Amino acid sequence: METKYSYINAGIDGKVFDFGEEILKDLKTGFEKIDEIAEINQIKVLAAMRNNRVDAACFAATTGYGYNDLGRDKIEKVYAEVFRTEAALVRPQIVCGTHALTVALSANLLPGDELLSPVGKPYDTLEEVIGIRPSKCSLKEYGVSYRQVDLLPNGDFDYKNIEKAINEKTKMITIQRSKGYQTRPTLSVKRIGELIAFIKKIKPSVIVMVDNCYGEFVEEKEPSEVGADMVVGSLIKNPGGGLAPIGGYICGKKELVDRCGYRLSAPGLGQEVGASLGVMQSFYQGLFLAPTVVAGALKGAIFAANAFEKLGYKCVPNGNEERYDIIQAVELKSEEAMLAFCKGIQSAAPVDSYVTPIPWDMPGYDSQVIMAAGAFVQGSSIELSADGPIKEPYAVFFQGGLTYYHAKIGILSAINEMYKNGLISL
Ligand SMILES: *Cc1c(COP(=O)(O)O)cnc(C)c1O
Repeated sequence: METKYSYINAGIDGKVFDFGEEILKDLKTGFEKIDEIAEINQIKVLAAMRNNRVDAACFAATTGYGYNDLGRDKIEKVYAEVFRTEAALVRPQIVCGTHALTVALSANLLPGDELLSPVGKPYDTLEEVIGIRPSKCSLKEYGVSYRQVDLLPNGDFDYKNIEKAINEKTKMITIQRSKGYQTRPTLSVKRIGELIAFIKKIKPSVIVMVDNCYGEFVEEKEPSEVGADMVVGSLIKNPGGGLAPIGGYICGKKELVDRCGYRLSAPGLGQEVGASLGVMQSFYQGLFLAPTVVAGALKGAIFAANAFEKLGYKCVPNGNEERYDIIQAVELKSEEAMLAFCKGIQSAAPVDSYVTPIPWDMPGYDSQVIMAAGAFVQGSSIELSADGPIKEPYAVFFQGGLTYYHAKIGILSAINEMYKNGLISL
């Protein structure tokens, strides 16, 4: 077969290729389901662009204050329609996902208010935003308190303790959709809806924010369609489609998003300022491609889970589980395996392919961390990337791939590297 020789020419052992094809044979039905979701989301995104009459004028750059920025105002209408919300804030001035979440939280929490996470510990970077770990300018410093209810050991919501934790100070609830780099399960939109319904019955006035990072377009619906008052994420993950070079979004109720606008720029100015500096075309085009890009990344994750399970490694989620985000964890059981895996991913990157990733002492971590990424946009994790802490169980977290083919090549390259080093037998 021609494909096989292309792979062999590219340095992949024929045995590794055959192994991959054997795994892929059983994944056709699952892949069809992913394509169907991508199709539904493509229709959704296209409809939002048509209904809002997107045209070439939207791509023009503005500078300075950015008054009357047509493209910026319209991309926010498009996002609001895609996420089925009243309003949206979609800006290159939001520097990353953590910043978007910080704006959403600090705009809507005032001194004396309390924030509750009913799904356990939030993403690492939010610990300092909230003040779980002492930090300058945290919400805690501004007099906002925090409570947390962990998931039950089986991953269920601890309804009894959630009810107990909601009190007269509880102003906002934060729900993280993706497991991020934890071992808990990722929450489906359906489960998020059930949790929100429970919470709103106890306290209807509470504001529910969902950290939507890595979850966009994985399912047909978004959390904002099942009761979330705000959904928040990064444009260098799923919704930027790999093209947005920076940015974040907050979609939700108008009065909440308004406040986010004032927090991001200044009271009195809000969403009326903020020049788009010529990135608008990438925001529109990236969003347009996002359903397909997410589908490719998901297929890659499922291929990896099935391949590595077959090789005897534990995968989270496993090869058969439903997917609610694009992250795949593989427990490689040794440092050598992690190094080989990451070297394989890196060597298959379009950028920096000649680099060998090595573990380093990353600030904030209690062990060394290894990272493989060769991305067009620095740190973009919708592009193929892998990382993990060098400690038991030696798990790599693997995500992204701008195309399914690239995700597949990356995984075969990782397996190939492990095979060449005698770490696996085929
Ligand atoms: C990536 C991520 C964030 C933070 O995003 P950054 O862009 O890295 O600041 C927050 N929450 C979750 C679940 C994420 O995956």
